[in-house]
Amino acid sequence: MGLIVHKYGGTSVADLEKIENVARKVIRTKEAGNEVVVVLSAMAGETDRLIALAQKAAEDPDPREFDSLISTGEQVTVTLLAMVLNRLGYRAKSFLGTQVKVHTDQAFKKARIVRIDEKVLKHELKKGTICIVAGFQGVDEEGNITTLGRGGSDTSAVALAAALRADACDIYTDVDGVYTTDPNICPQAKRLAKISYDEMLEMARAGAKVLQPRSVEMAKKYNVPVYVKSTFTDEGGTLVTKEDKDMEKEVVSGVTYDRDQAKFTVVRVPDRPGIAARLFTPLADKNIVVDMIIQNASVEGFTDLSFTVSRKEVKTAREIVEKAAREVGSERVEVDENVSKISIVGVGMISHSGVAAKMFATLAREGINIEMISTSEIKISCVVHAKYTELAVMALHEAFQLEQRS
Ligand code: ADP
Ligand code: ASP
Ligand code: MG
Repeated sequence: MGLIVHKYGGTSVADLEKIENVARKVIRTKEAGNEVVVVLSAMAGETDRLIALAQKAAEDPDPREFDSLISTGEQVTVTLLAMVLNRLGYRAKSFLGTQVKVHTDQAFKKARIVRIDEKVLKHELKKGTICIVAGFQGVDEEGNITTLGRGGSDTSAVALAAALRADACDIYTDVDGVYTTDPNICPQAKRLAKISYDEMLEMARAGAKVLQPRSVEMAKKYNVPVYVKSTFTDEGGTLVTKEDKDMEKEVVSGVTYDRDQAKFTVVRVPDRPGIAARLFTPLADKNIVVDMIIQNASVEGFTDLSFTVSRKEVKTAREIVEKAAREVGSERVEVDENVSKISIVGVGMISHSGVAAKMFATLAREGINIEMISTSEIKISCVVHAKYTELAVMALHEAFQLEQRS
């Protein structure tokens, strides 16, 4: 008995029949004597549809209007679930981000949750109401609707669990847990019974979209135990939690890929102090995250500078970089959207040598050219041509014998 937060993703609420299935799962938890808060995503494909509509309406839609539009998918699912639960005889009420309230900053399209008022929900929970909250959305200090970035309902759920001091946060999705790699592209992938916040965070940041990175950051900060489970079976599950002594320090615990990458190369930049700042400051000012950065050795006072950004930001980034590149006297800017980032993650990497060499040798054996490399204490990432994504993941999964994980 306790307070449980459930979150259901897009494929779990894709139509009314699936929403009925969600209702049954929610009722089971309620009938076991728990208070229940449910966070929902929009129906699968709906957020994409709304984004495409916005882009048809205007080439560069106003961010405030854009967020108002793309947050509507969640309003449909939360109200439908409330109606189904009411019909089945349960007290249930839907809430939008503005009604809870989920306070965020003003960064439209990737707002951060700063605070959640828990009073309204607490009051309803006391009355026995099942509270159904629209994921992915919040409200800024001026009352504008904001959204939390793709996959943001995970973060809504964990933030609510933290604010309400919930006993558990169950993330229901279309796979039955966190795997050594995406089970949808590598059949040999193994489910992990438990994973530490740090490893999950690196995997999420490196592209394992089963959890949004911010949801893991938040779970770690507030010590929320997160269970990733399947909506469609009671088997399996993965607990994301604090590192404990019996967790083995695997050298490599997972392989991830991220197709949401675009590579910029600023060709023949004068090699002198302050140039990098002049290229990257205007990107930072526009809130554009630069991921990998590589600067070539200088030849006759000129160098090439390459970096990656999210493919979604190519248009804005290109305008900014082309302007800055002209100002610093660079020859031209090249943009390659056919790239993908492949990473291996593992906390045991810190104390092992040869891991990077093995990764590079594996890719070489498959004839895959590495365009960029970056390393951290527990992650190594390589940018490769997008057409090699699946091949690279499968080869690395095999080379590090991840199919033998238990
Ligand atoms: P939801 O709509 O429920 O939020 P997502 O599509 O956002 O679901 O996330 C689940 C998907 O994440 C899975 O279908 C799977 O293809 C993908 N995925 C990528 N890496 C992993 C991994 N390491 N373990 C499990 N799933 C993964
Ligand atoms: N519906 C939103 C999206 O598609 C949020 C989510 O699914 O978590 O990104
Ligand atoms: Mg998701």
